[in-house]
Amino acid sequence: MREVHYQEIVEKVADMCQRANYDLGEDVVNAFKNALQTEVSETGKDVLLQLIENAEIAATERVPMCQDTGYAVFIVELGQDCHITGGSLYDAINDGVRKGYGEGYLRNSIVGHPLERVNTGDNTPAVVHVEMVPGDKLTIHMTAKGGGSENMSALKMLKPSDGLQGVKDFILETVKQAGPNACPPIIVGVGIGGTFEKAAYLAKKSLFRPIGERSSRPEIAALEVELMELSNKLGIGPQGMGGRTTALDVKIEIYPCHIASLPVAVNINCHASRHKEVVL
Ligand code: SF4
Repeated sequence: MREVHYQEIVEKVADMCQRANYDLGEDVVNAFKNALQTEVSETGKDVLLQLIENAEIAATERVPMCQDTGYAVFIVELGQDCHITGGSLYDAINDGVRKGYGEGYLRNSIVGHPLERVNTGDNTPAVVHVEMVPGDKLTIHMTAKGGGSENMSALKMLKPSDGLQGVKDFILETVKQAGPNACPPIIVGVGIGGTFEKAAYLAKKSLFRPIGERSSRPEIAALEVELMELSNKLGIGPQGMGGRTTALDVKIEIYPCHIASLPVAVNINCHASRHKEVVL
């Protein structure tokens, strides 16, 4: 049994929270640059250039790329031969978020009660999903998820008879409804199948895949490409100012489901698509 100490997790998580907010991933910046080649709207091109410049300033000056520094969401792959010592995994992650957001002067965006709405003051608690996996490693994936794009996400329990066309219509309608409110160009995360909560989790999980990395299932990879092309025909464009670049990517994860059900969840991410990963 391999041991990973509590404090090591705290330090890594704190560092990830800051890097996520300062260093936009290469996949996202390259997607902006690629979009410049296909964007026809002059305003759209101008917005893309500003997004590239914004990412450069954030990385160079170590400042957040957006005032919304996000909800800290984690997917943790915990090897079954890995033992965490010195405290609980959840406490370590929350201590790391507290430290990272505090020392990085990142905005605290979490309220402790959804109705009373008093800020917790340290951006905790994080949302933590744990998956048990074979082996002795601890892999932590983190995203700082923007509230504006999260708000434009949706889930629908379709009827099996709605079929593939029903799935496509719902995804495109959600992208259309999001319009400028999700801070496009967006990344569209989709979960199809499972149960109500499984579909939502799959949609979130799909957003951790780098831009341009297709599903390993050929029919799903083809659907990702098709939906990205259809999204980019909606004319929403960068920051909703019109143009071809509405979605930088569409990611789809699937899971078996009940004979009576066809759940579809669409989790939208904004252009500040911030995700980091560490392996301990
Ligand atoms: S949705 Fe994204 S880009 Fe828009 S304000 Fe929030 S974090 Fe920033």
